[in-house]
Amino acid sequence: MALIVQKFGGTSVADTEKMRNVAAKVIREKKAGNDVVVVLSAMAGETNRLIALAHKVSELPNEREYDSLISTGEQVTVALLAIILDSLGYQAKSFLGFQVKILTDKAHKKARIELIDTKEIKKELKKGTIVVVAGFQGVDEDNNITTLGRGGSDTSAVAIAAALKADRCDIFTDVDGVYTTDPNVYAKARRLNKVSYDEMLEMAMTGAKVLQPRSVEMAKKYNVPVYVKSTFSDEGGTLVTKEDKEMEKEVLSGVTYDKDQAKITVVHVPDKPGVAAGLFMPLSERNISVDMIIQNASAEGYTDLTFTVSKKEMKEAQKIINAAAKAVGAKRVEVDDDVAKISIIGVGMVSHSGVAARMFKTMSNEGINIMMISTSEIKISCIIKRKYTELAVTALHDAFGLEKKK
Ligand code: ASP
Ligand code: MG
Repeated sequence: MALIVQKFGGTSVADTEKMRNVAAKVIREKKAGNDVVVVLSAMAGETNRLIALAHKVSELPNEREYDSLISTGEQVTVALLAIILDSLGYQAKSFLGFQVKILTDKAHKKARIELIDTKEIKKELKKGTIVVVAGFQGVDEDNNITTLGRGGSDTSAVAIAAALKADRCDIFTDVDGVYTTDPNVYAKARRLNKVSYDEMLEMAMTGAKVLQPRSVEMAKKYNVPVYVKSTFSDEGGTLVTKEDKEMEKEVLSGVTYDKDQAKITVVHVPDKPGVAAGLFMPLSERNISVDMIIQNASAEGYTDLTFTVSKKEMKEAQKIINAAAKAVGAKRVEVDDDVAKISIIGVGMVSHSGVAARMFKTMSNEGINIMMISTSEIKISCIIKRKYTELAVTALHDAFGLEKKK
């Protein structure tokens, strides 16, 4: 007998018919003799609808009430699934974040889980109950409802699996695994049977939407084996797990893209201590994450500084940076949101040479100009013009032979 956490995303619980299919998958694990904890998202589109409601009544909705509102989608799905399971003769019980309790910090809209009290869940499992937990939500120490950021129910599921020391965390979604690139962009994309935590994390952070990055971080930290599977088919699946020798043989495991990017350049910045801090502190105080940063070599005591932020935060970042640029004595600020980030990822990069050169050559063969570059041990990212996104993805996928069978 094993303890299994099953997480179902929004498209898997989009309506009651689909929820019956979810119930069947849950029952199958239960009948196999396993303890089952189910974690659910809201019905597809529901969180967006709730967010739109909040913005309809206020330009800057109060954050406490905002979280209280947008977490309700999950209350609907967990209760509905428990009702379905009960009607089929299975003992089931739904839990909201505060009922578990899933304790988070106080950062509304992007709270971090600090502790999960497993007492109630364990008590119910012992009685043979199927436990159904609302994803995406928690509660802070003052009993305010918090949410974990978009896509946060992945993190709920992995955190619960870690806290319960579950044997497996299955993430059911509308695709049958993790692919070498987005199959909607390139039909030659190949499903990976296995991918390492680090690669998955880089993929998730550079645009692959299949898992929330924080869930992968958590899986790595607590060594939770995560299976990404399709709700609608029993075929396929990708195991996200520890790195092994097999994985290192491949140069790359994927090509990702992110169109949610904007580039900001501060022109003619005095080159002296404290200037970068003067520009980036105000952004961080407003919780705006900066991704890539490039500072040009200084000429005559001045330099240009370019960085990227999420397109959604560009307007706010621009406002802040305009003021900060003035304060540090820079000449002007330029913004460009007509860009995309293309990344190649693979643990094999560590042992194979010439990977960056091959990437740049591939882009140049296609006539694509590279505006910014950043690297980590297992990732290289380039900022390019947005309209070349698909071209870059397919060219890189071909150049690194990703469609080949392993
Ligand atoms: N319902 C939330 C969202 O749409 C959480 C999730 O789906 O993981 O972001
Ligand atoms: Mg999701």
